[in-house]
Amino acid sequence: TGPVIIVGAGHGGYQVAASLRQAGFSERICLINDEAHLPYQRPPLSKAYIKGSAGPESLMFRPEKFYQDQKIELIAGRTVSIDRAGHTVLLASGETLPYGHLVLATGARNRLLDLPNANLPDVKYLRILDDSEALRGIMPSKKRAVIIGAGFIGLEFAATARIKGLEVDVLELAPRVMARAVTAEVSEYFQERHREAGVRIHLGVQATSIEAEGGKVTGVSLSDGRHLPADLVVVGVGVLPNIELAAEAGLPVAAGIIVDEYLSTSDPDISAIGDCALFASPRFGSSLRLESVQNATDHARCLAARLTGDRKPYDSHPWFWSDQGDDKLQIAGLTTGYDRVVLRGDPAKKAFSAFCYHGERLLGIESINRAGDHMFGRRLQSMDRSITPEQAADESFDLKSALA
Ligand code: FAD
Repeated sequence: TGPVIIVGAGHGGYQVAASLRQAGFSERICLINDEAHLPYQRPPLSKAYIKGSAGPESLMFRPEKFYQDQKIELIAGRTVSIDRAGHTVLLASGETLPYGHLVLATGARNRLLDLPNANLPDVKYLRILDDSEALRGIMPSKKRAVIIGAGFIGLEFAATARIKGLEVDVLELAPRVMARAVTAEVSEYFQERHREAGVRIHLGVQATSIEAEGGKVTGVSLSDGRHLPADLVVVGVGVLPNIELAAEAGLPVAAGIIVDEYLSTSDPDISAIGDCALFASPRFGSSLRLESVQNATDHARCLAARLTGDRKPYDSHPWFWSDQGDDKLQIAGLTTGYDRVVLRGDPAKKAFSAFCYHGERLLGIESINRAGDHMFGRRLQSMDRSITPEQAADESFDLKSALA
């Protein structure tokens, strides 16, 4: 193979390096890291980390010694271009590195708000450790947060900000929260739970301007004419995949770096994984770009296996989670495209699952505080089995019997 160069040291990049060594890969591995930290876990940034007081080391996948012991060269800096003919990458420092195989694990970046004053210090985003640190640092001096976007990150932050005693308003353009990702039943449950916690959720509206005085945010104006006072604005309006490096090297890109079911780009010596990859999925019969830890790490394992001689198409089952206040949401499968939702358990008891079907076919399960249902769903999917909507709705039906 020759040296493997991995661009991006997030969930996917770290995992490829670790899995390559685990599989006995003995050639050079360089992990190019443009963040000023050892590779770390992202999900806690909007959950435990921002709530607590633990230091950055609590997030690291591995201590520095691991990289030394495993001979994984962590190279600080940004990759600025790829020379495909010469098989090298150029770093911002001017250094070039030769590759036998190049892995693009560049992730995604925040979609920025295109409004005046959106670049003031009181307007924050949440993607990297430095963002979480910054928010943790300024929250104690803030009183009123307006959160733009009711996706997972916006809502996770909303719950934390309430716990920290801030007044919180959440703005969402769609008619319900997390509309792109979960069923209406689950959206409604979370809307109610956040409202109980004192979060004001405004649906069907968008921010039209951010007001400021002397460089400090004073409020946000809404498309319905209202004005909300605020001294902190947190923006969670989605991400854009980092595809530019690939595009500039002439690799096909669309809503992600285009790869086949083996995660290979059109250049057999370049692969792309994780948030940046738009991958062909025979299982789902379409191309997908997913934003989850499961997707990035399973992509990484599949690619590491291929680079060490075990070539198989990527075929893992998606799963995901989100923690919001005291509630844990877990999703097994991809629930988009359902035409029927069956509830198991009781939202009033704060523990239920939404089983999502297309016809009789179970697409996925969204579980709230029902870890057993979630694990059941993942095992059922791994066995390529299903249960009927009637069985799902019947609490006396023993789920385990479907796995026997
Ligand atoms: P990333 O982890 O984003 O890593 C990409 C890395 O590449 C970054 O460090 C980036 O700076 C670097 N990079 C980009 N371009 C270059 C370049 N040219 N040169 C060098 N380096 C470069 N997922 C879940 O499943 N569950 C959750 O609960 C969850 N919570 C989340 C909470 C937050 C706050 C965030 C931001 C994400 C969360 N996610 C969650 C999503 C999950 O973290 C991502 O899907 C995952 O990190 C994707 O891994 P990746 O390796 O593709 O990209």
